[in-house]
Amino acid sequence: MMKDKKYLLIPGPTPVPPRVVEAMSRPIIGHRSAEFQTVMERVTGKLKKVFQTENHVFIQGSSGTGALEAAVVNLVNTGDKVLALSCGKFGERFAELARIYGGEVDFVDFGWGYDIDLNVVKKKLEADPAIKVVFATQNETSTGIQNDIEGLGKLVAQHDAVLVVDAVSGLAAIDLKTDEWHVDVVVSGSQKAFMLPPGLAFISVSEKAWKKIEQNTTPKYYFDLLKAKKNIAKWNTTYTTPVSMVFGLEAALDMILEEGLENVFARHKLLAKATRAAIQGLGLELLAPDECASMAVTAVQAPMVVDADTLRKVLLRDYGVTFAGGQDAMKGKIFRIAHMGYADKFDVITAIAALEMALGKVGYKAELGAGVREAQMVFVGGEHA
Ligand code: PLP
Repeated sequence: MMKDKKYLLIPGPTPVPPRVVEAMSRPIIGHRSAEFQTVMERVTGKLKKVFQTENHVFIQGSSGTGALEAAVVNLVNTGDKVLALSCGKFGERFAELARIYGGEVDFVDFGWGYDIDLNVVKKKLEADPAIKVVFATQNETSTGIQNDIEGLGKLVAQHDAVLVVDAVSGLAAIDLKTDEWHVDVVVSGSQKAFMLPPGLAFISVSEKAWKKIEQNTTPKYYFDLLKAKKNIAKWNTTYTTPVSMVFGLEAALDMILEEGLENVFARHKLLAKATRAAIQGLGLELLAPDECASMAVTAVQAPMVVDADTLRKVLLRDYGVTFAGGQDAMKGKIFRIAHMGYADKFDVITAIAALEMALGKVGYKAELGAGVREAQMVFVGGEHA
């Protein structure tokens, strides 16, 4: 086996296309130069297209959690009532952040492996008009579940509350019409479907959210969005922006926009469908039901004969393939195959072919080719059936 040949199939960080790497290797320019101001203006314009919004989208140097924290620290005052809708690890994180900043958090746990039930949210909002912020996750990476953000947006829009959506692992893979669906704050990160290394986070803010931010008194410094808004009006960034990452971001956005957003979403949908068909072809159980299955990452229950982490070790040791494991209570119980960002058909074929061979090694009887064939059938549209 060639030791250097690796196949990274985790839901972030994801592989970075050569075009993006090349853009990032351009010589550095000053972050307060006129040239960089032009770059920021142009890149922000492209980013807004991917966010499907007329709202400003801030680009900040941090991981995705930094953007989650920025949303919380700018919107939540001590004693504010907030609704945290959770169906996994990242829903829990939003609740934790809101609690740390003094929010009175109504934590609604739909459970790992389930999606957000809009009927529950509707009742909660109707019962308590004092709710100021609703936090939700678009794509729950820990379980491979995607939520109905369109339905949620339209629901929250009827109330005084603002809707904040963690789209760290879903934006640019799964449709999210920020303005049309009334999503007040959308946060995302660079290292997933945006096809960049880790290090940048993005955050869009609606007029409705600005009204709350203007009244916010929670102490903050680096994540002060009002300060950032003032500076960006002159295309000046408050702190030193990761210049090379912004060069890379422009290349990634160009790739996304050249492919076309609808085509990007359709590609992710196809890869998810093929992955799910392959897993079922191998007789394994999927965690997410079809109705809310993520287009970006697929979670699979470990077969009875082995725990998921042992299987993952074999995949890495013998085939150079990395899948993600389960987190917290799901540790050892599931493994997760990403198909987001710079991913196409042969990434799925690679994942499934390696999985079939590794399953044999851990004592699970799967016919070689049974999963690959199902994926291929999805890709050819069943014409060779
Ligand atoms: N939210 C979601 C849905 C995620 O998938 C992740 C990372 O996996 C995060 C938030 C946190 O992002 P980061 O690890 O970049 O801070």
